[in-house]
Parts: sequence; C-alpha cells; structure tokens
Amino acid sequence: MKYFGALFLLFIITFNAKAGVVLIDPGHGGEDCGAKAQIWKDKKLIVQCEKDIALEIAKKIHAKINKTSHIKAYLTRTVDSTLTLQQRADYADKIGADIFISIHLNSSHSRSSNGVETYYLDNHDNAAVKKIEKVENSDAKGEEVIINQILADLVIQRTAPISKKLAFYVHANLQKRVVPTYKIVDRGTKPALFYVLALSKRPSILLEAGFLSNQEEVDKLLSEKFQEDYAQAVYRGVVRFFGKPKKKISLF
Ligand SMILES: [Zn+2]
Repeated sequence: MKYFGALFLLFIITFNAKAGVVLIDPGHGGEDCGAKAQIWKDKKLIVQCEKDIALEIAKKIHAKINKTSHIKAYLTRTVDSTLTLQQRADYADKIGADIFISIHLNSSHSRSSNGVETYYLDNHDNAAVKKIEKVENSDAKGEEVIINQILADLVIQRTAPISKKLAFYVHANLQKRVVPTYKIVDRGTKPALFYVLALSKRPSILLEAGFLSNQEEVDKLLSEKFQEDYAQAVYRGVVRFFGKPKKKISLF
C-alpha cells in the first residue's frame, strides 16, 4: 500500500462549472417593426420601432450576463434582421439554452398606460392578456397556431413552475430597481400563452419593458440610463435564478 501514491498520480482541479445558458430574444426585427411610437428628432417627426429599443436592452442584458463566470448568454439577433418565431425557438435548441427570455415593449389605446410587466408561459383566460398576445403572436397563423397550441399545452405542463420562478426573480428586481427610480406602474407578473415561448420548449419569460404609446415613457425607454437600469435588474434576476457558481471537482 506504501506504493499506492507512486502508482496512482492523482490530479485534483477545481473550476467554475457553467450553471446555465440563457437565450435572449430581442422581439420583432427587420420587416417587423413591432409597436410604434412617433417622436421628434432634429425637428422631424420620426417613427420609433419597438424592435430597435428591444435590441438595445437585450444587448445590455447579454453583455452583463457574459461578464459572469458561470452563466453564458446568447442573442437570437444582434442586428436589425427578420426572424420567425420558429427560427428564434430553433436557436434555443442549437445552443442548448436552459432558459429563454424575450424582450418587448408595450402599446395601448390609453396614452396614460405605463409600467413594466413580466409574463411567464402558462395557460390562462385573462382577456387583457389575450389582447397583448395577438400583437406578439402575429407571426403564427392558421394550422400552425393549432399545432402550436397542442405543443404549448405539453410544454407548459413541464416548464410552467420553473418559468414562474424565473419570472418572479426577474420581476422582484424590476420592482426594487426600476419601478421606484422611474416612478412607473408595477403591472406585475402574469401567466400568458406566447407562441415564441412555447416553441422554445423550455422555461421562458416575456418582458414588456414599457409603453411606446405613452410619450413620457418613450423618453425614458430611449434613455441609456433606463436601458442600463432595466438590463441590470433582469441580469440580477437571472443570476438569482441560477444561484452561485458551483465548484466542480475533477479527478483524472
Ligand atoms: Zn413585441
């Protein structure tokens, strides 16, 4: 037994195991502008598209997450390109994402509507939520919708509790860091059936970062500081969701 140590050389190393992979999806893009706002820029009235603000916020969340040692983030699009809901979902498979986060901006007939809301994939019968879904689901049509519905039911059973947990962690940080700072309405965490979330086949949330139909809110949404603060809150929620980096011990 005294030669045991000489016969078997044991190397023990520790390193931070990746705790998770996140796919961040800036809503819309390319031909699909998403919701629109009209703003004055250089004395001209221009159309501000949801797709552009969503991309800016998504990029900021992506950069923050990738500074961690244990969570890896990807983006479904890094430029203004057209993507179907299916293409976004397929990318989640390709990179082996653990969670899917879709970034959007709201719009309402009421110009005073404002605030942040967080949706997680679940069944529901809330009329107000259905109205929003129509906009975000506009890419899915006809038979595809029926097939997606069946798929959604199966996916929901498996993922809803985890999606809900992720939604609460992210929204708790929005409540703490964004709602009081910008004096906006906390519209809460809600269940919803968004096809892009169902198609991703994994725990997922959809964030509505503010209202493009509210002029005051548009100014905030376009500001670098708001986008940074919002991204920081989402980032902290994601970090909380995955927990601390796990030390992995390897023997060889
Ligand atoms: Zn949208």
